Amino acid sequence: MNPTLKNTFSWSVSRDSVFRVCPRKYFFNYYGHWGGWLKDASPRTRQVYVLKQLKNRATWIGQIVHDCIARTLRNISRGVPVLGLDEILSITRNLMRQDYRHSTKKRYWQNPRGYCGLFEHEYDIEVTDAQWRNAAEDVDHCLKTFYQSEHYERFRRLPPAEFLEVEQFSSFYVDGFELKMKLDCAIREDENVVVWDWKTGKKESDTGLSLQMGCYALYAKDTFRVELDKILTRRFDLHRGILHEHSITQRSLDEMITYVRGSISDMVALLDNVEENTVREDRFTKVERPEVCLTCNFLRVCQPRLP
Ligand code: SF4
Repeated sequence: MNPTLKNTFSWSVSRDSVFRVCPRKYFFNYYGHWGGWLKDASPRTRQVYVLKQLKNRATWIGQIVHDCIARTLRNISRGVPVLGLDEILSITRNLMRQDYRHSTKKRYWQNPRGYCGLFEHEYDIEVTDAQWRNAAEDVDHCLKTFYQSEHYERFRRLPPAEFLEVEQFSSFYVDGFELKMKLDCAIREDENVVVWDWKTGKKESDTGLSLQMGCYALYAKDTFRVELDKILTRRFDLHRGILHEHSITQRSLDEMITYVRGSISDMVALLDNVEENTVREDRFTKVERPEVCLTCNFLRVCQPRLP
């Protein structure tokens, strides 16, 4: 990572969600890890940096599925032939085995961005072989749902020029503050812009979904220069094989912007220096709820006395 990088303030749905869960976790995630990639980083900063990259099984599954679909859609958008489902499943299974091996050997402590680190290995959480197999089967299931769907067939037939974005970091500004996001996929469909989102989690509830979809719609309106009634947001639940379509109204967009403004001002209020985006750790309270802390990547540095 470039050592001259500056930690600038930006807002995102995930940042907001971490902030609401625990301010100290937010500190570790967005400030405390900064510079942990440098050779002369303090041991604690290095530790926070490594822990920040850990994934649990659910986020691991999500990332594997998202990466795989993104590779395929990028190939389609470039006119490159795509692999068949069996080959995709076999490559993905091998990648998961590789991740698992690296994680058990804790190679991520040497290179946290090069090697996968799983929360369960770092914290010696007991996971049975059957549970690990279930994770691999969940990935297979999500990928089969996607690649065998009519929606995928439509992606395959779509002319490359109709792809607008596939999993790329994007941003836009509200009141001078940068809002960051990564759309799973955005395409043109007739006169509409369709923003796609893949859901890989098993939970029914989708906290923050309307906020996320609102951000996507606002970004699409701004970037692709379309009216709101020409923006469709679709969420494809890959566990259940269900497609949810969300319509965004001007009213829900206004509510979303009001929420975002409030969230930004809560975050900015904790900054020591707004221009420099600098903070002091002790200003970020600890939630200290065992059910939250026991699933937190930063447990080791924050609550070393918890089991
Ligand atoms: S261990 Fe608990 S208090 Fe500490 S950062 Fe994580 S959630 Fe917050």
